[in-house]
Amino acid sequence: MTTSFSHLSLAEPLARAVAEMGYESMTPIQAQAIPVVLTGKDVMGAAQTGTGKTAAFSLPLLQRLLKHENSSTSPARHPVRALVLLPTRELADQVAQQIKLYAKYTQLRSAVVFGGMDMKPQTAELKRGVEVLVATPGRLLDHIEAKNAVLNQVEYVVLDEADRMLDIGFLPDLQRILSYLPKQRTTLLFSATFSPEIKRLAGSYLQDPITIEVARSNATASTVEQHFYGVNEDDKRRALHQVLRRQGIKQAFVFVNSKLGCARLARSLDRDGLKTAALHGDKSQDERLKALDAFKKGEVDLLVCTDVAARGLDIKDVPAVFNMDIPFNAEDYVHRIGRTGRAGASGLAVSFVGGNNDARLVGEIEKLIKKKIEVEALEYDEDRPRERLNEGRRMYQQGEGRPAPRERERERTEASAEGYGRDRRAYRNHSAAPRDPFFDQPYQAPAVDAAPAWEAAAKAPARAISSNIKPKRKVAALFKAADPVTS
Ligand code: AMP
Repeated sequence: MTTSFSHLSLAEPLARAVAEMGYESMTPIQAQAIPVVLTGKDVMGAAQTGTGKTAAFSLPLLQRLLKHENSSTSPARHPVRALVLLPTRELADQVAQQIKLYAKYTQLRSAVVFGGMDMKPQTAELKRGVEVLVATPGRLLDHIEAKNAVLNQVEYVVLDEADRMLDIGFLPDLQRILSYLPKQRTTLLFSATFSPEIKRLAGSYLQDPITIEVARSNATASTVEQHFYGVNEDDKRRALHQVLRRQGIKQAFVFVNSKLGCARLARSLDRDGLKTAALHGDKSQDERLKALDAFKKGEVDLLVCTDVAARGLDIKDVPAVFNMDIPFNAEDYVHRIGRTGRAGASGLAVSFVGGNNDARLVGEIEKLIKKKIEVEALEYDEDRPRERLNEGRRMYQQGEGRPAPRERERERTEASAEGYGRDRRAYRNHSAAPRDPFFDQPYQAPAVDAAPAWEAAAKAPARAISSNIKPKRKVAALFKAADPVTS
């Protein structure tokens, strides 16, 4: 199988755009999927973000849409011909930006619609006419209901990150959206895993799909230096400062397991004088996009984020990744640290390990990455009693100092409820959900001359579960409840 784009016979405007992107050869998912999508067949692809899957579906899709290319100003000449559905606003925005780049030398129009933003500019764009529409399901339904989007000429539909869409509880929305589409169409489904639910979704909506699987990498790059430090919960921020300072790190991703923890840590680090932004599900859309942009431009040093908000985002070559909490899911560890040490560059991944539950989670990571993990003691620069240095390690070994299992369980619920399993309307329309006043407080500007917060011994506010968080919905139950519309 060839991996050169030149063998694909892409139309000149697309080939030019690809060349301009600097792509030298196809990634494995591209080499496998592009020729199949060019034939118009349905595809069921197992691939994650970061594998080049956006180009894998959008280049052949644009190529096939070129026959409709026209310069007319009439909206009727630019109906929606391809629909790309994604679970989160950030992913929708990211994919839409890539599609715009690939289509820049064509006359095909593309647009993106997602919740949390004013509908009016989106409506105006839809009314002008677009051939490729990228959307999150909830907001798309709002536009369909408002008759801003007409989907009866759709030839291609892409269900991207389908497993996450089901996790979030978008199945009923997807079923409704798909019921508006012509039966004669090409459907492409991409998912990180082929769970039974995904297979059922594919069985209902795909016709004789070609299955494409790209080897899933659970390996961590050898260019990433990984350290696990035993650190008492209260010392984690201090430990973070210590490693940042000692290693001279300028920018890093800092991962936490819950959005409450995310907001709190970002505020504390901001108070410590570090340029910090937070990325979690309760941030407004505008704040989330600004935070990402500021990090990409280097205006922000630390991006404190939860897995759900950050997964799949295309930010590469971050010098370091910190895990303030050990992720509940070992695969998330691989995703988290995969953001550093790319393309041969060296990277640093530092994880702070606390009590007994962390020992189990670290054990799961060990199994997944097939490497023995050594939990080290962290030496601090400041004078501290010697016994304190090894305290974290001792506590880790003896299972002390971490929140009680019930507390961790609550954090797990928060983490899994981050954008997942919410009431659909609340997810679609942020203002419809009762907001937790904690998140309405404005960020405080960095207090440059403030004493390091770990010395101020500021106590974190008491933990409370946000009233926004609803129990996770059972996907299987949804399948039973709503009869899938076969097409
Ligand atoms: P995706 O998985 O589609 O989100 O793509 C991840 C990143 O890989 C994006 O920044 C793309 O621009 C980049 N990319 C996609 N295809 C290629 C390629 N063939 N060569 C180099 N980079 C690529």
